[in-house]
Amino acid sequence: MITEFSVVGRERVKSLLSFMICEDILNYAYPLCLEIPRQKKHVSLIFHKKRLISIGRNCFKTHPQAKKIGYAYEEMHSELDAYRKVPHNDRNLKLTLVNVRFNRFGELRMSRPCELCTPWCREVFTDIYYTDNEGLKRME
Ligand SMILES: [Zn+2]
Repeated sequence: MITEFSVVGRERVKSLLSFMICEDILNYAYPLCLEIPRQKKHVSLIFHKKRLISIGRNCFKTHPQAKKIGYAYEEMHSELDAYRKVPHNDRNLKLTLVNVRFNRFGELRMSRPCELCTPWCREVFTDIYYTDNEGLKRME
């Protein structure tokens, strides 16, 4: 069961992402987050309109691009994990990034793209959303 945090979150998802008829994004992302065997459980979902086209997680896997961006320990961040799986044909579409993070108690936590991710995310995504302790926010 998801705690009251996501009730607040759910309302905001509806108002912010009303163009999406897909099921509640937080409920969708919750089990994906909990599967991550790490303290920080970040999931990134990439949409084109109503279509979910990629899912990424933070993981210890190293990747040449992670090294290039300068992530600590060449560690993969969920945004990059998701974006590297977007088919090349889809990369010129208007893409929306939704970052979600839960802790192990099922409470929403801050998942704003970090300072290394923000510049390239702003280049490739038309809209960026992320969770904080209360719900989903749009990145200005
Ligand atoms: Zn990052």
